[in-house]
Amino acid sequence: MIYLDYNATAPVHEAVIEAMADALRFGGNPSSVHGSGRAARALLERARARIAQVVGMRSRDLLFTSGGTEANALALASFPGLPILTSAIEHPSVLEAAPGAQRIPVCSQGQVDLAALEALLAQGPRLVSVMAANNETGVLQPIHEVASLVRQSGGRFHCDATQALGKNDALICGLDADLITLSAHKLGGPPGVGALAVKPGVDVLPLWRGGGQEMGRRAGTEPLPAIAGFAAAIEALAALGDWTGPVAVLRDGLEQQLLALAPDGIVYGAGAARLANTLCIGLPGVAAETQVMALDLAGVAVSAGSACSSGKVRASPVLAAMGANPAAAGEAIRISLGWRTSAADIAACAAAWGKLAERRRAA
Ligand code: PMP
Repeated sequence: MIYLDYNATAPVHEAVIEAMADALRFGGNPSSVHGSGRAARALLERARARIAQVVGMRSRDLLFTSGGTEANALALASFPGLPILTSAIEHPSVLEAAPGAQRIPVCSQGQVDLAALEALLAQGPRLVSVMAANNETGVLQPIHEVASLVRQSGGRFHCDATQALGKNDALICGLDADLITLSAHKLGGPPGVGALAVKPGVDVLPLWRGGGQEMGRRAGTEPLPAIAGFAAAIEALAALGDWTGPVAVLRDGLEQQLLALAPDGIVYGAGAARLANTLCIGLPGVAAETQVMALDLAGVAVSAGSACSSGKVRASPVLAAMGANPAAAGEAIRISLGWRTSAADIAACAAAWGKLAERRRAA
């Protein structure tokens, strides 16, 4: 199987599997006072420090969660007095955690519309949630400009950096946000673990109470093996050096090949800065589901629409928010590359997609 669905979840690094197995064998509850507990605590805090470093935060400002979804839920529940604004292209874990939120529109290239945000903020302080990079198009968001607008308005800023972590750390390091969501499984760590980076002085309103873990902000024994795996994934990616440079070359090459096969193909966010690994392309007249299935039959794994919609393929709300008509929004697939992607993988993907384009011409 040629795996080109890194934005759904990335292959786990060998070093992560080893770190997790070691932590499982090691055992211990970080809250126990005996030697085994203290050793577990030391391992936990080493991992926390490594992860916090990526976002330029102090380790005590990072609290672990069960993933990006929980971190987003925690973030959006933390300022109950503030009305919420989210971009129209947020992940469902943000959109559905704040059903009454007002939406900030995006421009045709998929970046949040800063003028519209400014106008919305003129109504008063808000909790603003804008992602760092979109999961479907890879489009990078102007999060530093958002942070500064929110700051000027006296509001709060939450940034879901789930897709940027590991793929564009420079974008999120040092970001002036109150809360930043992180997740391990998009960078080759295990699923089921994430974190919320909390700016000093910001109070998180716990979703779960009970044990005093995570400084009372998130009860429950910390999943040390998963957390150790999260930190190991960051190390493993760092050890690869600049993997996004070569991946951008492969992605750009793929994009050109696909557009040569179908000159009416639509590349979403082509005019914006994007994650190096992501290509969202529409083939007019061919449903996304058909494309995903045809590629799957050819041994190439890609996805359509929002990958997290549990096997359901539907017109993408992200592309609709960018102005795509309903038909077009149901005809785009997301191809997301990663550190293991080779030129041969790209050639196989282009060949399989080319057959679809050919069949469409024949029809
Ligand atoms: N936010 C974004 C932008 C995502 O892409 C995802 C994963 N699809 C999530 C949040 C949810 O993260 P997790 O799977 O760790 O709950």
